[in-house]
Amino acid sequence: MTKVMMKIAVFSTKKWVRNALDAANPAFGFEFTYYEPRLGPDTAKLAAGHDTVCAFVNDDISAPVLDELAGYGIKLIAMRCAGFNNVDIKHAAELGITIVRVPAYSPYAVAEHTLGLILALNRRYHRAYTRVRDGNFALDGLLGFDVHEKTVGIIGTGRIGQVLASLLSGFGTRLLAYDKFQNNEWAETAGVTYVPLDELYRESDIISLHCPLTHDTYHLINKYAIETMKSGVMLINTSRGPLIDTDAVIDGMKSHKVGYLGLDVYEEESELFFEDLSGEVIQDDTFVRLQTFPNVLITAHQAFFTKEAVDNIAMTTLQNIRDVSETGKSANEVREG
Ligand code: NAD
Repeated sequence: MTKVMMKIAVFSTKKWVRNALDAANPAFGFEFTYYEPRLGPDTAKLAAGHDTVCAFVNDDISAPVLDELAGYGIKLIAMRCAGFNNVDIKHAAELGITIVRVPAYSPYAVAEHTLGLILALNRRYHRAYTRVRDGNFALDGLLGFDVHEKTVGIIGTGRIGQVLASLLSGFGTRLLAYDKFQNNEWAETAGVTYVPLDELYRESDIISLHCPLTHDTYHLINKYAIETMKSGVMLINTSRGPLIDTDAVIDGMKSHKVGYLGLDVYEEESELFFEDLSGEVIQDDTFVRLQTFPNVLITAHQAFFTKEAVDNIAMTTLQNIRDVSETGKSANEVREG
């Protein structure tokens, strides 16, 4: 295999990122500079002297950052994730910067984590665990429900939504779905019924979000959507934080309209997630309020975090970089629209 010497500035790196990229790199021979900080206006200068930038979900790749990167001659940004809502794609195209991503690395990882949140919230494993360790073997407050025969509404039936549907079908659930672009053939074989969004809200005991963050889906779950839902509904978001209007959902929790909330993503997560802030004073009062509810379970954007997914992310990211550097294009290029 031809080796392309290329200097890559890798932002938002943690140990697991370095380990995965280093393990994949022998087949590529790239030169990495690992930076722990997120990419943003204060750190873009670290890309100077490199050919390519490699970034992650909470990096800021807005127009001013792109302008600065273009000034350093950066022509390629390789995202180590599927979502690209944090990239100004239009401006990147205007500057001639190619954006590549990893569209699919393991829908199983995210769907399985979603199922984990549903079961943990329902049966309160997180509370039971601490109770038993504390010598409290009482069951009061741990009452759950059978998932069997409940109605689950899946919003977004792409790769992850489809895997979740197949996992849930094992529970004997009634599956409803909403997607802007329906996949009727799949729905028929999977036993899933597409319904309008309002009907999904009205009928579902559990609602799980698996659509991308776009102008259409920003605050999809707002005050009005919540008003339409069943009382005591379980809401799960492992997709992107801004799909949910957090203030509206907090009001929904206070009025008991929302019975359970499971989040792997949060609107303002970029200030919090992926960092050890256990010794710090958390300044985000909305996030702190969320944590006070006994029926809220939050994980810090870890749904993707399985060995298989991380290995796939590393391999695909490096292959994307090689494809663009050798041929000028990649099947995983992100384009506007
Ligand atoms: P996908 O592209 O395969 O599927 C997305 C689906 O959403 C598609 O069927 C699409 O038609 C549908 N959709 C688009 N616009 C919509 C709208 N306005 N309303 C309803 N549906 C709409 O993506 P995927 O691989 O299934 O991933 C789904 C999302 O999960 C990603 O966008 C990403 O934000 C998120 N994600 C989260 C993690 C994590 O670790 N928490 C990891 C990977 C992906």
